[in-house]
Amino acid sequence: MAITQLHPALDDGIAPTAPDFSGGVLVCNCSDRPVRVRIEGQVAHNHACGCTKCWKPDGAIFSVVAVAPVDKVSVIENGDKLEVVDSSALIQRHRCRACGVHMYGPVEREHPFQGLAFVHPERFEGKGWAQPGFAAFVSSVIEAGVDPKEMDGIRARLRQIGLEPYDCLSPALMDYIATWTHEHQTRSKLAVNA
Ligand SMILES: [Zn+2]
Ligand SMILES: [Zn+2]
Repeated sequence: MAITQLHPALDDGIAPTAPDFSGGVLVCNCSDRPVRVRIEGQVAHNHACGCTKCWKPDGAIFSVVAVAPVDKVSVIENGDKLEVVDSSALIQRHRCRACGVHMYGPVEREHPFQGLAFVHPERFEGKGWAQPGFAAFVSSVIEAGVDPKEMDGIRARLRQIGLEPYDCLSPALMDYIATWTHEHQTRSKLAVNA
């Protein structure tokens, strides 16, 4: 059985990063009163994600998702159409109520990702945003209905386009989270002992 589409931004050739990309405007799918969100500066840690929470375009089994500092993210038009998908989730994903596109997802609670907002750079009007560097939560596409028999092919294809597949986040991000957790525990112990 043929592998379904990974994602349009991956299947059609990954667009190069522009060194001078200085940000831009994310736009939802609505033709009437689209939500517009401005991002100042380049996004970071862009990657393909197979989790079931990220927004994906029709037919895609992966999302393309990156982060930006929350203070570099501002809703500039039609923010009244935004709603939070799940207020109990770590990532407060704000989607357009009309078309369903997730426009930004800040992390507000105390966590290594606090102060960052998750965004889908494919929604930028312009090109040059940082190209994805790895694939996260690859096994999770099975939860979304992909036949487990397709996984070898999917991982091979991700490697072929330069995205190392991981079943959690990349080692760099997992190390970052663990470092934060270690330091946080140390700080908590010091606070208890003080
Ligand atoms: Zn919309
Ligand atoms: Zn995800």
